Amino acid sequence: MDCLFCKIINKEIPAEIIYEDEHVIAFNDISPQAPTHALIIPRKHIATLNDISAEDTEVVGHMVKTASTIAKQLGIDESGYRTVFNCNSDGGQTVYHIHLHLLGGKPMGWPPYQEKLKEDLS
Ligand code: 5GP
Ligand code: ZN
Repeated sequence: MDCLFCKIINKEIPAEIIYEDEHVIAFNDISPQAPTHALIIPRKHIATLNDISAEDTEVVGHMVKTASTIAKQLGIDESGYRTVFNCNSDGGQTVYHIHLHLLGGKPMGWPPYQEKLKEDLS
C-alpha cells in the first residue's frame, strides 16, 4: 500500500521513533510546530477518523493513552500539551493514515483558525 506512515511502520522510511508497541508507534514530526511535536499512529492502516470502526475503538483509546504517557516521559505533562486529530480537507489532514498530534513545550494558541476565517464565519 502506498502510504507514508505504513512505510514508517515497516521501517522502509526512517523516522525518529520515540515509542512503539504491538498496536501503535510514535515518532517526531518532520516539520515540528512546537518544541515537542510527535505523531502517534496505529499499526493498522485506517485512512481517516471517518473510517474508524467499532473494533478500532480500543486502539484509538490506546493512541490517546500513549500521548499522555509520552507527555509524561518528556516532562510536559504538568505544563500541558495539545492533542489533535485532523480529518479530511477542512481539518487540515495531509497524510491519510490516522495520527494523533502531540504538541507541547510552549503555550498553544486557541482557537486554531485564522482571523480572516473568523470574519468569514461572522
Ligand atoms: P496532518 O496534516 O495530516 O494532520 O499531519 C501530517 C503530519 O505528518 C504533518 O505534521 C507533517 O509534518 C508530518 N509528516 C509528513 N511527512 C512526514 C515524514 O516523512 N516523516 C515524519 N516524521 N513526519 C511527516
Ligand atoms: Zn497507512
